[in-house]
Amino acid sequence: MIELRTPAEIEAMRPAGKFVASVLDAVRASASVGTNLLELDRVAHDMITKAGAESCYIDYHPSFGGSPFGKVICTSINDAVLHGLPHDYAIKDGDIVSIDFAASVNGWVADSAVSFIVGTPRDEDLRIIEATEVALEAGIAQAVVGNKLGDISAAIGDVARSYGYTVNMDFGGHGVGREMHGDPHVPNDGRAGRGYGIREGLVIAIEPWFMLGTDRIFTDKDGWTLRSADGSRGAHSEHTVAITADGPLVLTARD
Ligand code: MG
Repeated sequence: MIELRTPAEIEAMRPAGKFVASVLDAVRASASVGTNLLELDRVAHDMITKAGAESCYIDYHPSFGGSPFGKVICTSINDAVLHGLPHDYAIKDGDIVSIDFAASVNGWVADSAVSFIVGTPRDEDLRIIEATEVALEAGIAQAVVGNKLGDISAAIGDVARSYGYTVNMDFGGHGVGREMHGDPHVPNDGRAGRGYGIREGLVIAIEPWFMLGTDRIFTDKDGWTLRSADGSRGAHSEHTVAITADGPLVLTARD
């Protein structure tokens, strides 16, 4: 069921969005060559504790997860593209680091992800990060009253194709509210003009993620981390967006 939020509820979601943005900024600022992924998780964990926020990940145990997640951020490195379980790994020069983070503040969730290079970038890695950011902006631009959900999906898929990437349809965006995942599902490709008619008060996470060489993934033996089937690298960009009468409001916008 798709739940719509009142303007007052959307206002009440702003602190969660700001908090999630601040954690992604802090985690990114803490990531250098040699930084351990467990240290990055600790940075986010300390901020959650200090803010009195609640992690959406630590007890998360859906049907596709091997066990409760146990950490507060997802750290997906290189060919790990989604749901990367933080583990004892020191970031290497040139790694693509994707951080996904969701937390609840005052009972409202925000969810956001960012990809960046640590150290010396490869051109193709910068390009795929850029593609996910351009696709996210294109998707957000379609998140307006009167459009269909398919307009968001098609805009994302078109950007992927323009960069020469294919789109995995297993995981995409989703409704956000009191819980991290709700209706509707927001696929990263689709047909313009089709699907749910976007209404004021819809709050969704839009999250394009692409891989350089494939649209297929497999689950790592840790039971969580999703890796590209061909070992190629991936990137991921996500914001939580509220559709208001004045247009899309990016709740997790970073400075
Ligand atoms: Mg997320």
